[in-house]
Amino acid sequence: MHDLAISGDVVLEDGTVLTDGWIGLSDGSIASISQQPIEAARESVHPGKLILPGFVDVHVHARSNPDEGIAATTTAAAAGGTTTVVDMPFDAPARPVNSVERLEAKIADVNREAVVDVGLYATFAPTGPLDHIGAMASLGAVGFKVSTIEVDKVRFPRIPDGRLYEAFQEIAGTNRLVAAHQENQEISDLFSARAKQDSTNPLSHARSRPPVAEAEAAGRLLELAYWSGAHLHMVHGTIPRTFDLINWHRSQGVAASGETCIHYLILDESALTELGGRAKCNPPLRSRDDVAELWVQLEDREIDIVTSDHSPYALANKDTASIFDAYAGLPGAATLGTLLYSEGVARGRISLATFTECVCSGPADIFGFEKKGRIAIGYDGDLVVFDPDARHNLDVHTMHYRVGWSTFDGYAVTGRVLETYVRGTCVFRGDKVIGGTGHGAFVAPAH
Ligand SMILES: [Zn+2]
Repeated sequence: MHDLAISGDVVLEDGTVLTDGWIGLSDGSIASISQQPIEAARESVHPGKLILPGFVDVHVHARSNPDEGIAATTTAAAAGGTTTVVDMPFDAPARPVNSVERLEAKIADVNREAVVDVGLYATFAPTGPLDHIGAMASLGAVGFKVSTIEVDKVRFPRIPDGRLYEAFQEIAGTNRLVAAHQENQEISDLFSARAKQDSTNPLSHARSRPPVAEAEAAGRLLELAYWSGAHLHMVHGTIPRTFDLINWHRSQGVAASGETCIHYLILDESALTELGGRAKCNPPLRSRDDVAELWVQLEDREIDIVTSDHSPYALANKDTASIFDAYAGLPGAATLGTLLYSEGVARGRISLATFTECVCSGPADIFGFEKKGRIAIGYDGDLVVFDPDARHNLDVHTMHYRVGWSTFDGYAVTGRVLETYVRGTCVFRGDKVIGGTGHGAFVAPAH
């Protein structure tokens, strides 16, 4: 007898659908999958609805704004069908996770505050010893996040190239990945100085960080991965060229993977004119042609995964007179899966198999979460009940962001998350997050 049986159109690993299938859950894990009804203490039956693996969003910044934090970010994730997030290490104010002590403290915070499961990136300072990298890997950090451009001198610093190479060598020995924000400092400095002469035109932001700044840094990082043997995970690629470079290096034997974010698949740079600071992110939004080509690369599987890059800043820091005073980043933890389903699957741009590879099994595999991302025996009971036909407009009030705004408020979509389960426990149903803080747990890579 199982604890819980869930029935619906069960989406299996290869994207095939077990129509009116049954999943039996015991002790938080998937214990059986059947075409026949499964006996259980409780039943949750959803004819005509998809049962998907819980989404795995490996790029959120819960603490870039300390007023948002882990509880609010994972509450929003639960409402969006995301059952595992990976949080970035650039915690505000000025508390980057760059030591064993800070990583241990953050793991304890996750176990107390999280509603869904949480993996953690670590990082390292621009100077000083690197011997804590191995210790942070052993504690369960998924990898190490760095930047080639200065975002914040203490919290999110630029790491010089020589230091990057040394650190890549150290990381190569740990079985963890290195992830990098890829923009060229000098190109951005020069073009920013020029663009700032037109600071009330929001499009100036896109001009201040041209595509070459991203591609050059991406190529440089991939070469560092080639020469060090490290696994490089490229975060937020925004242009086809970045993924061409990743795939060429992969063909040369480099361990590389690449992600884009949902907003780069939906918004082009014209959104800056329409939405101002609410469409400001780094790297910036690109051309319509770039957006169209990213979809082709996604379905051709030249882009591995899609994330939210959830960056929840207060509106006061977004609606600024000069676009250069606005903080970069958009809240997105609540909308990743629904937006990718709606814009991708419902519009026929990607298959259901590609969808689950991009936001379920793909990120779980790259980050080493061996019990996440699939509906298969022995995996965690992380599930989403999803109505694939619901047409509605996204509503910020159902996203559960403490910042209370979304770039996608009012956006018309097809598809809706009805219920979210984390390790067999329902944490979201209807429009209510019913999972409490502390249900979510720290999750480390398996090896
Ligand atoms: Zn980010």
